[in-house]
Amino acid sequence: MSEMNIILLGAPGAGKGTQAAVLCKEFGVPHISTGDMFRQAVQAQTPLGLSAKSFMDSGALVPDHVTIGIVADRLAADDAARGFLLDGFPRTLTQAEALDDVLCRRKKELTAVLNIDVPEDELIRRLTGRQVCKVCGATYHRVFHPSPQGERCGVCGGALYQRVDDSEATARSRLLVYSRQTTPLIAHYTQRGLLKNIDGLLPIDVVTEKLRELLAGMNSRGA
Ligand code: ADP
Ligand code: ADP
Ligand code: ZN
Repeated sequence: MSEMNIILLGAPGAGKGTQAAVLCKEFGVPHISTGDMFRQAVQAQTPLGLSAKSFMDSGALVPDHVTIGIVADRLAADDAARGFLLDGFPRTLTQAEALDDVLCRRKKELTAVLNIDVPEDELIRRLTGRQVCKVCGATYHRVFHPSPQGERCGVCGGALYQRVDDSEATARSRLLVYSRQTTPLIAHYTQRGLLKNIDGLLPIDVVTEKLRELLAGMNSRGA
């Protein structure tokens, strides 16, 4: 099988993290989530975390030079040499161009950019009901994807919490930031012939199946 270098694109709440967890396990590629990396840094109170926190709490983007630096480092790690799935990066045209440079230097090419499309009112319902496991990071939803163990994680039994930036007000600003700063990437990757659209309103397992089909198609053509 050829190498899978994938970007998952989509608004906050579209289901990127949920799908990434399944696909990465299946394809054996690392799940590179800039949001998760920033949250870990905030929790560990590292200099990166301290500088990222105020941007994250207000729903703004962490500055490009900071974000690009951590992704370039992460892509240099051994486990990313045989493929990766990027979730939540790139989010600006500057980040997309920096990623192109990094991949070019490493003689790598993107396999596909999978764009999960969900309307705004549904995104708000998803973000405001989202629950995340404190221990393993598994994602649930109070109504749409409840944990089989109630307020505890179905995978590891850890406690579930609601992200501070998933309040309705901050969720709305994040969607505005997405439409202003990230939607230009759709045209960017369409022009390059890499963009694949998926209807993200479908149930979680159906979206997974569609993503699998798209990737299988890319692989048989690209290999
Ligand atoms: P993202 O990483 O794109 O911000 P998540 O994967 O965290 O999105 O999903 C956002 C919320 O929506 C979570 O609570 C998740 O359980 C729920 N969710 C994800 N995909 C679907 C879906 N297809 N239908 C209904 N709810 C979903
Ligand atoms: P969601 O998919 O629900 O929007 P993420 O976990 O991807 O959430 O991101 C959470 C926050 O982390 C963002 O609101 C932003 O402050 C920061 N962040 C994550 N990825 C990036 C990025 N590529 N560029 C800038 N900031 C980012
Ligand atoms: Zn867990």
